[in-house]
Formats: sequence, structure tokens, C-alpha cells
Amino acid sequence: MMAKQIMGLWQFECDAVLTRSLFAAAAEVGARCDCAPCRNFRALGPHAFSAPARAILEALGIDPTQASELYPTGVSQAGIVPHAGFFHFVGGSLEGDRESSTEADGFRYFITTHAARVSKTFAPHPVLQLEFETSLPWVLDEPCL
Ligand SMILES: [Zn+2]
Repeated sequence: MMAKQIMGLWQFECDAVLTRSLFAAAAEVGARCDCAPCRNFRALGPHAFSAPARAILEALGIDPTQASELYPTGVSQAGIVPHAGFFHFVGGSLEGDRESSTEADGFRYFITTHAARVSKTFAPHPVLQLEFETSLPWVLDEPCL
């Protein structure tokens, strides 16, 4: 059931219960890419994001291990690599700032109706996209690029 949600600079409706069940039913919502950044992200598992970032994702029903898109945006510094990417969740009726992002403990994000690369799992439903930028630990023994 859609419920009103106020988060960051946005107000929207979302169905966290349905989103959670879609993530659970689909073994692989995220791109199962074999590149080093995706393998590093999978190695991090649920610990990729800080607790405040996980709280944001979990409030929307998003499985934090299943990003639809993920890529490094900069150079590694002391084992930390800046990344960007996005998740999808069931939602609509988005209102609020369309230009800005907001930040929680190093997790910068915004919510948009412009959804790209929506998986088959979500395709039958109205979706919103949460785009993020954050730094991730690099745990592989190989370089990120
Ligand atoms: Zn990849």
C-alpha cells in the first residue's frame, strides 16, 4: 500500500512493503556485472553504506546490496573510492526540489522520477529512483580501474 513519505528535500508516496518483497523475490535486482567495482560492492555486502545511509534505504524497502547501477567517480585515497549509483523503489507522486541533493553522513542523494535501467522485477510498478554518491572501502586485492 502506498504511504506518504517525507525524506530529505522530497515528499512522495512509496510502498516499502512491496519494494521489500520485490527485492527479496528477485535474487538479483542489481546489475550482476563482473567489473572490479561491482565485485568490490558485492564483497562489502550490507556494510557498504553507513548506518544513516542504510536507514534511508531500508525506510524505502530497498535492499542496500542490490544497486541497479554503481560506478567509481574518482581516484582511490587510502583504500576509499568515491562511487555513484542508484536504486529503484515502488513509489510516485514526487514533490520537492528537482535540482538539489541532500546528505546524510557522507551519503549524498536525491530522488527523481527519471528512472533508468529499471529491472524486470520493478517494471510492472510505478518506480522512483534514488541516486547517490558516497565513498566505499576498497577491499579487493586489485586496482579499482
Ligand atoms: Zn560493474
